[in-house]
Amino acid sequence: MVGAALVGCQLWDQAGSLGAVIRPTTALGVAATTAAVAGWAAPALLRARVLRTAICPKLAGIGQLGHIALTFDDGPDPEGTPAVLDALDQLGWRATFFMLGAQVTRHPDVAAAVVAAGHEAAVHGFSHRNHLTRGPADVHRDVADAASAVLGATGARPNWFRPPYGVLTLASLRAARRVGLRPVLWTAWGRDWEAHNPARVADTVASHLRPGGTVLLHDSDCTARVTDSWRSTVQALPRLAALVDQWGCTVGPLRDHLARRPSPTDPAP
Ligand SMILES: [Zn+2]
Repeated sequence: MVGAALVGCQLWDQAGSLGAVIRPTTALGVAATTAAVAGWAAPALLRARVLRTAICPKLAGIGQLGHIALTFDDGPDPEGTPAVLDALDQLGWRATFFMLGAQVTRHPDVAAAVVAAGHEAAVHGFSHRNHLTRGPADVHRDVADAASAVLGATGARPNWFRPPYGVLTLASLRAARRVGLRPVLWTAWGRDWEAHNPARVADTVASHLRPGGTVLLHDSDCTARVTDSWRSTVQALPRLAALVDQWGCTVGPLRDHLARRPSPTDPAP
């Protein structure tokens, strides 16, 4: 499977599109192509929370046990993001915001306000398209453009990457590595894009969250099923605080949650 995946990646690099790759003329070609495509898409299986928690805990956002990482996707949004920032300020929390490059380009001042308030900016891609439908060159360009947009608007170099829908492919992983980003998904989400129901958002988070976990919420309704979905998110935060207080955990961004990668400028151990 791994070999097939590598072959698949090379084919993708050369051809740049699935249509150019899938033209097998023999049964062996069909089998090889099927294996290559399966390997290329294999990381998408990690979207299954139970699977990634078991085999890739860092990718799932499992960090220090006395800490909860709080993350928001799909912003910045001129209404949702300031409301979330106000709510976080009242709780004394800082968080990581996985920004869309397209949203950053539209609202650079809002992106800058996130970092100015002490939060962490991260990359969610430029456009909110599933990587399973995109070729490797396209994915790399998307991730690189988003990282540039975030850096340009906030002045802060992002360290983390979360793909749209949490769907990773080999191309996603390669693009993140080339751009210098570390992929992180989540251990608990609130499904806050579905309906206006703060209690349900908080209960959904609580059903999977444990000390050391990472929470996924949204500060923008740009991909939500309901408008102003962030209102439920904001109202769910104090409920989440009550849960976390029971555990005695602190809440913060991913930079405080996961071990930092060694830097070339670090002193020798
Ligand atoms: Zn998203």
